[in-house]
Amino acid sequence: MSIQFFGLPVSRGVAIGRAVLVASSRVDVAHYFVSPQLAEVEVARLREARDTVATELSSLQRDLPADAPAELSALLDVHLMLLHDEALTGATKHWIVDRHYNAEWALSAQLEVLARQFDEMEDDYLRERKADLEQVVERMLRALARSPVAAGHAQPSALAPRDFAGEDPLVLVANDVAPADMLQFKRSVFTGFITDVGGRTSHTAIVARSMDIPAVVGAREASRLIRPDDWVVIDGEAGIVIVDPSPIVLEEYRFRQRQSELERARLNRLRHTPSVTLDGQNVELLANIEQPGDAVAALEAGAVGVGLFRSEFLFMNRESALPGEDEQFEAYRDAVLAMRGLPVTIRTVDIGADKPLDRMSVQELRHEHVLNPALGLRAIRWSLAEPGMFRQQLRAILRASAFGRVRILIPMVAHLKEVKLILDALARARQQLDDAGRTYGPVELGAMVEVPAAALSLPQFLRHFDFIAIGTNDLIQYTLAIDRADDAVSHLYDPWHPAVIGLIANAIALAHAAGKGVSVCGEMAGDPAFTDLLLAMGLRSFSMHPAQIPSIKQRVLRSDARRLFGFLPRVLAADNPQAEATMAFAASSR
Ligand code: PEP
Ligand code: MG
Repeated sequence: MSIQFFGLPVSRGVAIGRAVLVASSRVDVAHYFVSPQLAEVEVARLREARDTVATELSSLQRDLPADAPAELSALLDVHLMLLHDEALTGATKHWIVDRHYNAEWALSAQLEVLARQFDEMEDDYLRERKADLEQVVERMLRALARSPVAAGHAQPSALAPRDFAGEDPLVLVANDVAPADMLQFKRSVFTGFITDVGGRTSHTAIVARSMDIPAVVGAREASRLIRPDDWVVIDGEAGIVIVDPSPIVLEEYRFRQRQSELERARLNRLRHTPSVTLDGQNVELLANIEQPGDAVAALEAGAVGVGLFRSEFLFMNRESALPGEDEQFEAYRDAVLAMRGLPVTIRTVDIGADKPLDRMSVQELRHEHVLNPALGLRAIRWSLAEPGMFRQQLRAILRASAFGRVRILIPMVAHLKEVKLILDALARARQQLDDAGRTYGPVELGAMVEVPAAALSLPQFLRHFDFIAIGTNDLIQYTLAIDRADDAVSHLYDPWHPAVIGLIANAIALAHAAGKGVSVCGEMAGDPAFTDLLLAMGLRSFSMHPAQIPSIKQRVLRSDARRLFGFLPRVLAADNPQAEATMAFAASSR
């Protein structure tokens, strides 16, 4: 039966595919795809695990003391019966052979299927057998953990690239996906994803948007309601998830899918069109990137530079030590060279909050030791707490500046005393390079305006920086005290809040008055709903995911910036700025 539920739409487009669940609340196992050639090896591991458990259970039964209660032996009989039931091991094989799951994942997927069947049983006795099934599966998983995996076989996660073609398109359903894992998506087989948790500007959502993959987050019950292999429609525009859609609904969504592909192709034709408003104002459209390789997509989309290189993705999910100076230098240099003389703004690491260094999820972080990660040791605070590492990164960026136009951007600055430490660190990094006889070029230094404290003391900050980049994702989070990764408060995450738009307008005006460059690189810059507002505020530099550039360019081409500016005071003073802007701006755009 078809079911439908809602989450937060975070990345546009429609995805239709079979569900692959990588998060089971019952058991935590490794998930990776195995190539068809190695399926037999996995099936053999499964068979061996079953035989091992059968031997364990039989010897337990044989060694029961004579006075042991009869129920114990009967219970072991039940476990043996479940173990040999075709519904368990036989059906598990299907996940390995037909869906290419590793044995552990296949077993947990089948447990999920059977557990739901048990849950639906009328008979109390039978329903309670689910606990026995879980125990049997746990034993098998323990046996599997002891059996070796074929060499070179294991993949780090289901999101890793799969070198063989799947039959049906697949969509990923998970409780949560770490931002760094999301990067694997680029080369994975999934055409869309759904998570139970997450906010609209959580980094997982941001990475999805950067890849233009239809996605819905904060869908709460998704990984419980959707069964492995279910057909699922993801409407990334409306935040709708439809499980097991009827043929008519499916046809409708296939139609929409084709429409949005056509629309994308149409917008992509604007690639070489200069980004100029109706009244002749040039608007710089820059790209946000996570890895040097993203520069290709940035150029293809027509970006005139990189406005934000989130360097922390080089630091996340590493098996070994953090990247050293040379490794970082090579990554930055690659991005600079790939941009062929266009400017590249490299942000120093913004680790912390929903971007932990290892695979820990935000939930785990909260339960571990970090009371409130968003307010804790993140971004520049983390860098200043690790001065050696900070200087190492600055040296790597400075060295890359010998290969093109580089700008350094500091995240989450809030205190003037931090500014002094940053300037000292930069001076020392230069000195160290001089001492070592290394070459480097000139760099501009910029600060992100992400904390209200920075926005409110901007005149003092601006004296020390060449430019500012407004990070609206965090500025909204910290102004409204809304955790951007928490779906429970996502309804309060409001970019149109008068306090938020007042801070942004003021920051842009102050930067202009000081003769300093200013851009917006938060998600607002890539959302056409805010283009007119930002143009009205005088913004002429927008940084966004490459995939968003064509639709923002289209809005720029249709807007009259001078007329928009005339309406700004009304919008800023309104109780409902969104309604006011919709009315006022309509006349200034085509
Ligand atoms: C922001 O906060 O708006 C921003 C661009 O930085 P990030 O999303 O990486 O925190
Ligand atoms: Mg930020």
